[in-house]
Amino acid sequence: MKYDAVIFDLFGTLVDIFSLEEYRVFLNDLCAVLGVAPAGYIKLWDETADERALGRVPVAEQMGTLCRELGVAVSTAQLERAVEVRVDFVRGALEPRADAVETLTRLKAAGHKIGVISDCSEEVVRAWPDTPLAPLVDEAVLSAAVGMRKPDPRVYYLACERLGVAPAKCLYVGDGGSRELSGAAAVGMEAVLIRAPEDQGDDAFRRDAEEWEGAKVSALKEILTLV
Ligand SMILES: [Mg+2]
Repeated sequence: MKYDAVIFDLFGTLVDIFSLEEYRVFLNDLCAVLGVAPAGYIKLWDETADERALGRVPVAEQMGTLCRELGVAVSTAQLERAVEVRVDFVRGALEPRADAVETLTRLKAAGHKIGVISDCSEEVVRAWPDTPLAPLVDEAVLSAAVGMRKPDPRVYYLACERLGVAPAKCLYVGDGGSRELSGAAAVGMEAVLIRAPEDQGDDAFRRDAEEWEGAKVSALKEILTLV
């Protein structure tokens, strides 16, 4: 067995990345609930993405703050409803890719530990345990829960520590957001880029996707041939 563990990114890897269009619809729904004009809100929302990814402030509180900055008073009921809109969006976005469950099942059956490292907000932390992927994953390191994100070396070391494996015995698989592949390689993992042919990359969260010269696959099931 070449690798003791396979560690996956989540969005764009185990689940589809959501498109800019889907994200725009979601943000407009959110703004309608909050009673704010989308243009101003989305600007502030984008500027505060780091705080959400690092879990620095509860999202409901942050949404209230952003609304106040725009001169809009929101009720607790509106904020609760807005959180529901966010959780619903995230639950929909966590639908596994067609070959994800089978690939993870086969990797586990072959004796590999399975990890996930995701840069995500608190809704993913809440929704994760109910996904079909969660029972197949030994350790999920979610940025909003641990207060660190890729490509911070500590986030990879934390995954290894929890999995009880050495970085050199890990294969890291991701679509290249957050400079995650060079981050994984920097701590001694093997890293492989996944890019499905139908994945055109018009996403909101691959803005800093890297130019990767290393190994590439186009479907999760190809990982089975690399381990
Ligand atoms: Mg990704």
